[in-house]
Amino acid sequence: MVGLALGDALGAPFEGGPLERLVWWGLGRTRDGRHRTTDDTAMTRDIAESLLACRALDLDDLAQRFARSYRWHRGYGPGAAAMLRSVRRGTDWRVARTAQWPEGSWGNGGAMRAPILGALLHEDGGAAAAAGDAVASVTHAHPEGRAGASILARATAACVRGASPVAIVEEVAAHHADPPWASPWGLVRAFLDAPPSVATLRKELGNEITAIRSVPTALYLGLSSLDEPFEHLLSRTRALGGDDDALGAMAGALWGARHGASALPQHLKDRVEDVGGLAHLARSLAGVSIDWGPGLRAAGP
Ligand SMILES: [Mg+2]
Repeated sequence: MVGLALGDALGAPFEGGPLERLVWWGLGRTRDGRHRTTDDTAMTRDIAESLLACRALDLDDLAQRFARSYRWHRGYGPGAAAMLRSVRRGTDWRVARTAQWPEGSWGNGGAMRAPILGALLHEDGGAAAAAGDAVASVTHAHPEGRAGASILARATAACVRGASPVAIVEEVAAHHADPPWASPWGLVRAFLDAPPSVATLRKELGNEITAIRSVPTALYLGLSSLDEPFEHLLSRTRALGGDDDALGAMAGALWGARHGASALPQHLKDRVEDVGGLAHLARSLAGVSIDWGPGLRAAGP
């Protein structure tokens, strides 16, 4: 959770074009001067609080929490903002999630909040992936949006278990071999051996807000940085531009899942909003037992 928050908050000032960066220049700091976290961290916090309160995965409770904690200044995408405002007005999330697009969103909003599920269910990659899918489905009905979350949850679980980057890519590839997911894994695997230029990475894997054009990128950034200082991951993410807070959140979560919050640089933790609160929440969550339900337990490795 802390790795995700650092990647999110420290990536956000580099997101998008000049106008978006100018807006974030005004909005992106708290009153005490810390970097503000965005929707990626806010929704991760919602998941943690829902699991703690319900001691189970309750998608109705989660939808209400997502809607209640929505704040326009935390950089939610326009589709997510409209959907969450609609839920706040009383629309069922199962209806609201397809009001913008009939097939649902294929953005990376499900993926960016999935790492916490991988961390909690790290012993079972299949269960982690199924939980990622379920939690994404509250706002992302489209199969691509849900798959992005499954992938990130599965990869995070494998990072906690200490799997090698190549093994993680192979595990993900084995479970996401159908189009459009078939094509990026060979590239991610090749890039781990021979790092591409920023321009090649941007062109081949992407830096956009769709799951298909950001999740493989974040996977590459996170896995290729596991044995480097966290600052390297941040600077490589910033160089890429585009949806920088989500890329930073996803890649930062993988790094954090591997090394733990105590390994993250203190000077960066000091610069980000409410890291202590997030760490406290994470510790609380780690200490409780969650009933994940028969569906997830049966998901298998
Ligand atoms: Mg964001």
